[in-house]
Amino acid sequence: MHEMAITQSMVNLVLEEARKGGARRVTSISLVLGELSGVVGDCVELYFGLMSRDTPAEGAAISIKSVPTRARCRKCAREFEVKDLDWICPECGSVSVELVAGHELFVESIEVE
Ligand SMILES: [Zn+2]
Repeated sequence: MHEMAITQSMVNLVLEEARKGGARRVTSISLVLGELSGVVGDCVELYFGLMSRDTPAEGAAISIKSVPTRARCRKCAREFEVKDLDWICPECGSVSVELVAGHELFVESIEVE
C-alpha cells in the first residue's frame, strides 16, 4: 500500500506540472528510486496506469532509475556500494559509515506535449 500513496502524489505532481505548462498530454516521466526507499518500481507503474486513467497523464511512459545504496566510511572517507546490507568499509574494515545514497524517491523529469 506504500506504493499507492506514493504513486498518488506522483500523479498529482505530474498533473500539476502539466497544467502549469499548458500541456495537453504527458508523454513520459522519469522517476528516481533508491534501493532503500522500499518502493517497488513495478507497483508504481501498475498504480500509475490505474490512477492516471482519464487524465492528461494517461499512457505516459514511466522510466525508473534505480539508485544503489552507497555509504562513506567516517574513518578513511572511502565511498562504497552497500551490497546485501553489508555496512563494513572494504578499505579499513570500520563499521562507522554514513549513508550517502539509497533513499532517493523523486520525479526527475516530465515530458509533455
Ligand atoms: Zn574505511
